[in-house]
Amino acid sequence: MSTVQTMSHPIIERCEQLYEDLSLNYVRDQTNATGRKAFGFMPVYFPREIVYASGLLPVGLMGAGDLLEIIKGDAYFQSYICHIPRSTVEMGLSGHLDCLSGMAFPAICDVIRNLSGMWKIMFPQKESIYFDVPQNFDPQIGGHYLVEELKQLAVRMSKISGKPVTHEALHAAIALYNTHREWVMKCYAQRSKKPWEVPTSELYLLMRAGLILDVQEHIEMMKAYLESVADLDRKPMDNARVVLTGSFCEQPPIGLIRSLERAGCYIVDDDWVLIHRWIKQAIPTQGDPFQNLADAYLKHSMDAPFKYQPERKGHQLKQCFIENRAAGVLFCAPSFCDPALLDRPMIQKFMEAEGIPYTSFKYAENTGQYQVIKEQAGTFSDSLKLWGEA
Ligand code: SF4
Repeated sequence: MSTVQTMSHPIIERCEQLYEDLSLNYVRDQTNATGRKAFGFMPVYFPREIVYASGLLPVGLMGAGDLLEIIKGDAYFQSYICHIPRSTVEMGLSGHLDCLSGMAFPAICDVIRNLSGMWKIMFPQKESIYFDVPQNFDPQIGGHYLVEELKQLAVRMSKISGKPVTHEALHAAIALYNTHREWVMKCYAQRSKKPWEVPTSELYLLMRAGLILDVQEHIEMMKAYLESVADLDRKPMDNARVVLTGSFCEQPPIGLIRSLERAGCYIVDDDWVLIHRWIKQAIPTQGDPFQNLADAYLKHSMDAPFKYQPERKGHQLKQCFIENRAAGVLFCAPSFCDPALLDRPMIQKFMEAEGIPYTSFKYAENTGQYQVIKEQAGTFSDSLKLWGEA
């Protein structure tokens, strides 16, 4: 097993502070200083462009990780579901999220759907939106539905901000998020090219910061980070290149991510903080912006377990494996995550047919013990190095 280079980096230190700040003080400072209101959303996809165009600050939430003791949150849920709704409820009930004017719960699974209903009951004075997306990808059917959903969303955002979402404002927001996507892709590309230069734990924290910061500030942060790492003398190690999948919603604690790296894995692609890369290419900035957003979702969004595309299971992962010159796959999903764990056997079967090595494990966002997973990942990494080419 190898060790990971953990040279401190001022940009990443700031990202880690944002990650640990469950009370969202950056958001509070923004709203206090400018009067700009903020609107929260859960994983995975939410059209931030519309939120931004209405003048609100979009704020992405991914649970509380291992940073918050759950006292009240457990009382709202049965024991055999994932952890993220518990910590989100705990954050809400303990006042951490009172700087948000509302919350959106994108369609992803029954747990999130139920959470959206509970949120309405718990916080009746705040806007609470269940954002549904089509499972029919015909532009005349699912596309038509999504355009109407997006328009309604714009009206609801405008009611909070007091500012209408004009086509002009939405085009400008789309252009800004196109630039953001471009820089996110550059960060991921650089990590894949030189994973020793852009350690996954740093990239992850950098992406998490992008859920909180204003998009312009985050673009500048990514630029500065990429420039800075080029000057650092970080040396490559004898690690195995792996793609990680299954963690698109509840996230592993940062300690677990660091443990995977320390176990000898160069994670060269993953599905953490997926919203930043959900739309795979630039969205047009002319014509009807609602139609453009809907088209991007239908035609250019990632494959994921919560999209009904049975004929495509495993294909995106295989492509990602090839493009990133990976040697193996880590199936890494939250315990009780129905979408990830129902897909897993189908995709594993596909991987076996393709001769792609993999190993699988589960975690919870508040997992405190990493040793077993670290040993498993370390053994997998060693076996890829020893027999990967055989
Ligand atoms: S972790 Fe999985 S089951 Fe839990 S809310 Fe997210 S998608 Fe749903």
